[in-house]
Amino acid sequence: MADLKENLALLKAACDNPKARLDYYLAQGKKVVGCFPPYTPEELVHASGMIPMGLWGGQVEPKLAKSYLPAFACPIMQSDMEFGLNGTYEGLSAVIIPAICDTLRCMTQNWRFGVKSIPMIPIVYPQNRKSPASVDYLISEFETVLTMLTTITGNMMNEAALCRSINIYNEHNAIMRRFAQVANDHLDVITPKVRHAVFKSAFFYEKGEHTAIVREIVEELEKLPVCHWTGPKVVLAGITCEPDQILDILSENQVAVVADDLAQESRQYRADTPEKGGGGLKRLALQWNERYGCSLIHELGKPRGAMLVKMCQETGAQGVISCMMKFCDPEEYDQPWYENDLHDAGYHTVAVSIDQQVGSFEQIRTRIQSFCEML
Ligand code: SF4
Repeated sequence: MADLKENLALLKAACDNPKARLDYYLAQGKKVVGCFPPYTPEELVHASGMIPMGLWGGQVEPKLAKSYLPAFACPIMQSDMEFGLNGTYEGLSAVIIPAICDTLRCMTQNWRFGVKSIPMIPIVYPQNRKSPASVDYLISEFETVLTMLTTITGNMMNEAALCRSINIYNEHNAIMRRFAQVANDHLDVITPKVRHAVFKSAFFYEKGEHTAIVREIVEELEKLPVCHWTGPKVVLAGITCEPDQILDILSENQVAVVADDLAQESRQYRADTPEKGGGGLKRLALQWNERYGCSLIHELGKPRGAMLVKMCQETGAQGVISCMMKFCDPEEYDQPWYENDLHDAGYHTVAVSIDQQVGSFEQIRTRIQSFCEML
C-alpha cells in the first residue's frame, strides 16, 4: 500500500502525462479506446476487455486542426483534433464521440475525414428523456457501438461482463463522491490542484485500479486531523477548470474548492447505473435518464441554479466560480440562469474564461483577487 503522498503523486503524474498511461496499457497488450468528453458509454468498452481513456484536450497550439475547425470551436475540441492529426493519439484502437453539442456533432465528421488511422464511433444520446422510447433508442445506439467495438476485439461482449463492468463503475462513482466529502475536512492537503488531479486522473486509469488508489487516499485522509479552513470556500462550475495555473491562483489567494459542478469532475459521478430494471444495456440507458444538473442534458425548469445553491449551503461555500469554456454554447446558455438563482440566494459569482491554449493568466488572477475581496 502506497502512502498518501505517493498516491497523490501517482495521480498527478497521470494527469501530467496521459500518453505514458496509454503506452503503459499498450505495453501490456491491452487495446485502448479514446473517449471524448463529456459522456461516453465507457462500461461497454470496459466490458469488451479494453481500456477506455478520456480525451480532454491539452495545452497545444492548434496548427493542423485549423484546416478542420473554425476559430470559434471550443479549445478542448481544437486540442483533441490537433492531437489526432499530429499523431499524439496513435495507439488508440478507436475513439467514441458523443454528438451532444454542435461542436461535437461537427467533430464526428472532422475526425472521420481527418484522422483516418483511428476509427471513430459516434453515439447520439436522446434529449427527450421523458419518453419511454428514449430508452429503446439509446439501447439501439449502444448496440451499434458494441458492433463497432466487436470489429476491434473480434468478440461480442457478454451480459456477465457488462454487469461486472457496471458494478466497477458504480463502485468508482461511490469512492469519488466519498473522496469529495472527505477532502473538505483536509483542505490543507487537498488543495484545488490536488483535488483536480484526483478527479481528472480517473480518465487515464482502468476504473478498478483508480478506485483502489482513491480508496487508499480516502483512508489515509481519514486518519489525519481535521483542518478548520479559514479562507474563502468556493464551488467550481463549468466544463473544466484548467490548466493548473488557474488552480494555483486559487491557492495563492487561500481559496479552497469545496465542491464542483464540472463536467470533467463531479458531474461524471452523480448518477449511478441502477442495479435493477432490466439487462445491462437497459440499465445503462436508464442511467442516462438519471443524470442531472448538466448544461448538455435537457431539463425542464433550469434546476441547475437550485442545485448550486444547495451545494453552497451544504459545503459552506461563499460563492461560485463559473469556469466558462471559451465558445462553449451549452454552458453560455446556462450561465445567466444559474447565476441569477445564486445571486437571489445571496451567493457571489465570478466568471473566468477557460482556454487550454492561453499562456497568460493575469486577467484571471485579477478577477479572482477581486472576487475574494467580496467573500
Ligand atoms: S460542450 Fe462545450 S466544451 Fe464540450 S465539446 Fe461542446 S462546446 Fe466544447
